[in-house]
Amino acid sequence: LLGPDGSPAPTVFAEMSALAAATGAINLGQGFPDEDGPAEVLDAAVAAVRAGVNQYPPGRGTAELRAAIAEHQAHWYGLSVDPDREVLVTAGATEALAATLLAFVEPGDEVITFEPFYDAYGALVRLAGGTHVTVPLTTPDFLPDEDVLRAAFSDRTRVVLVNTPHNPTGRVLPRAVLETVVELAERYDALVVTDEVYEHLTFDVPHVPIAALPGAVDRTISISSAGKTFSTTGWKIGWLTAPAPLVDAVLAVKQFLTFVNGAPFQPAVAAGLRLPDTVFHGIAAELGAKHALLAEGLLEAGFDVLHPDGGYFVIADAAPLGYDDARALCLELPRLAGVVGVPVSAFVRPEHAPGYRSLVRFAFCKRRSVLEDAVGRLGALR
Ligand code: PMP
Ligand code: GLN
Repeated sequence: LLGPDGSPAPTVFAEMSALAAATGAINLGQGFPDEDGPAEVLDAAVAAVRAGVNQYPPGRGTAELRAAIAEHQAHWYGLSVDPDREVLVTAGATEALAATLLAFVEPGDEVITFEPFYDAYGALVRLAGGTHVTVPLTTPDFLPDEDVLRAAFSDRTRVVLVNTPHNPTGRVLPRAVLETVVELAERYDALVVTDEVYEHLTFDVPHVPIAALPGAVDRTISISSAGKTFSTTGWKIGWLTAPAPLVDAVLAVKQFLTFVNGAPFQPAVAAGLRLPDTVFHGIAAELGAKHALLAEGLLEAGFDVLHPDGGYFVIADAAPLGYDDARALCLELPRLAGVVGVPVSAFVRPEHAPGYRSLVRFAFCKRRSVLEDAVGRLGALR
């Protein structure tokens, strides 16, 4: 986790945000919105601070938020979750992932993820002492090969960690792929850990939580976060739902990572999760329109575009513009066009980077005026 000089290697997101700040370029790199989410959520946090909700909350999270999470799982997915024993509130999805992997992965255990993968996965598997096994998602459709997926499993598999909707490809993994994951997890007695932080941000494609598939619920830890849905990435309120013994094991780790987190934000997220369906649909529709705007602009600028089914990001292929090193292009992009993106190679192992060499990830969770400005600037690449 350290760079060549022994200091912490910055994540690609921190690196590219620093580049944007230093150059004044439009930051379509790190995925965070530049506008606030629902007023009800913001107001509830302010009210909680003013009402004195400022001390340690309960270790599992406040009763109100746990109840709202359980209601959310029942309402959206038909999942029955006991709010007292089967829910844990965490410091973002990141802590849920960290505590889960630290709780279950021992040296020698294998953790399977798709590749490209969110950067934290590789780092957390290493922190836990596990071995990271990857299954490639390749262009143009970013779907796994079933035989490769099957071959990744073995008696050493402890966890299969599935992110859908997927960062960075935007793919909502088809039900058939998820069913194969469950079948294999059962056969090899592995845990399924899901990362569903973009669950409400899909564009006309339904999100399928793995826990809702037959045979899955008893071995699945479902992870999500308020950050993306409510545009509150800085609040770091996440959660997981799982059978009680699994939650207990994760809690045993979480209590020594952060102990508890985000007291006044917990009632605010509870209020958010209880907002009418129309609010969630509106958030997704607005984001889908922003995707269309940026994707159109990238096409006009000469990129090939690999359209996402959901999430914050679109992948653009710079090969038609004559670039075959996306990392070099991303470092030059502020000067060439006044825009920052992230090379997809940052989400794959160095030895697999050549397969993703010309791909850049751009975030569209930004104001329309900002996206229009960015699209105009990217036209300079032609
Ligand atoms: N998983 C994925 C796939 C993400 O994209 C992110 C946020 N960028 C996270 C986890 C982290 O979520 P949180 O901020 O809630 O820790
Ligand atoms: N999840 C965000 C992204 O993919 C970044 C979060 C972070 O900076 N760690 O851009």
